[in-house]
Amino acid sequence: YGTETSLQKEDLTTEGNSFKGHDMLAPFTAGWQSNDLDPLVIEKSEGSYVYDINGKKYLDALAGLWCTSLGGNEPRLVAAATEQLNKLPFYHSFWNRTTKPSLDLAKELLETFTASKMAKAFFTNSGSEANDTQVKLVWYYNNALGRPNKKKFIARAKSYVDWYHGSTLIAASLSGLPALHQKFDLPAPFVRHTDCPHYWRYHLPGETEEEFSTRLAINLENLILKEGPETIAAFIAEPVMGAGGVIPPPATYFDKIQAVVKKYDILFIADEVICAFGRLGTMYGSDKFNIKPDLVTVAKALSSGYLPIGAVMVSPEVSDVIDSQSSKLGSFSHGFTYSGHPVACAVAIETLKIYKERNILDQVNRIAPKFQDGVKAFSDSHIIGEIRGTGLILGTEFVDNKSPNDPFPPEWGVGAYFGAQCEKEGMLVRVAGDNIMMSPPFIMSPEEVDELISKYGKALKATEDRVKELKSQ
Ligand code: PMP
Repeated sequence: YGTETSLQKEDLTTEGNSFKGHDMLAPFTAGWQSNDLDPLVIEKSEGSYVYDINGKKYLDALAGLWCTSLGGNEPRLVAAATEQLNKLPFYHSFWNRTTKPSLDLAKELLETFTASKMAKAFFTNSGSEANDTQVKLVWYYNNALGRPNKKKFIARAKSYVDWYHGSTLIAASLSGLPALHQKFDLPAPFVRHTDCPHYWRYHLPGETEEEFSTRLAINLENLILKEGPETIAAFIAEPVMGAGGVIPPPATYFDKIQAVVKKYDILFIADEVICAFGRLGTMYGSDKFNIKPDLVTVAKALSSGYLPIGAVMVSPEVSDVIDSQSSKLGSFSHGFTYSGHPVACAVAIETLKIYKERNILDQVNRIAPKFQDGVKAFSDSHIIGEIRGTGLILGTEFVDNKSPNDPFPPEWGVGAYFGAQCEKEGMLVRVAGDNIMMSPPFIMSPEEVDELISKYGKALKATEDRVKELKSQ
């Protein structure tokens, strides 16, 4: 998730300020970055734009951190928060005490998910906490069913960028990135990793997408058999991998994976933290790929990022076991002071209301083709291996010779250079190694999409020139 690079400081710095060497131990930031470089300090947001402390305007092509779906200044969300703050800024949801906004949000949220039936919602403050909650739910469920050995989780792994499910100890274990593991004595011992479904990078010569998916499903089945199906509790996957470089699944992948998972009585967890609420042009990624999960994780666009909130949705089968066994096992002793925080819930309720009233799926599907086609038109660039995505999510991967086997030398910092050029042009994207990711706000206008494409093109041209220069040295 973090990008350490040997780029020259002058390539990375944009507008100067006096905050280098600040007092914050900053997330996913290298010590040398915060000590030697002025951070980009964002002060204000407006629609699809954010402004830094010097007043410079940036098109926010990542919607904050994949979350500000309704853009930077939606007055109804501010009003919902203010009203709730005036009425009841806080009360908890422990011991069968709770608040009306958390009850209402649970009901509203469950209604948005129709790919399979969901019976209950559990609230957290983040996607990481929600994925940690998934693990505890699954363990509680299997303990309740008298299956104490059915506890392992299978996630997908990719060796060079993130398969990301969060950064708390358990969520980081489910994530597939060595950088999230090596420095922290992870992953936890109950996690196994299976193949990343990235067709362009991993398919064999002559293998079709369908054949690739079949091979991955066979590999998954072999892993389950090797470990013992009675030890595997759950499989977790994002419908479209986000932070790992934006990887949509190859054809038939989820059909084949779900068949294997079902065969061995393994729960399917859809991590919809990025995909939910319209990003792919469907309400959930599960709708798009015909996934019928037992458990669902959401966060980010649930409140358009305005306040921290995440949630887990639980199928009737799982929730019935948890409910009916509570007299034997005791309460589901898990929760956070701020689970179902009334102000965050009030903002989330208003967010869901706006999605419905404004037909947010229509809005996404109106601008998505322009966004996808406009950026994918750059696919022929000699430094681009693949541009991939769907709806309002796109990844670009820089490689040499258009080959997944020819990465640029990491010390060239090609991805970081592109990111810095975007920043100079007045646009913010996500960089991870030589992968670039974009997930603009749902409310982007067609003119703003044009601006995004034009800025991408300028940053790409500068990066192509830079690569030519580096090659000639
Ligand atoms: N799951 C996915 C798919 C994510 O993309 C993220 C965050 N980018 C998380 C979980 C973790 O969410 P949070 O940062 O809110 O803990």
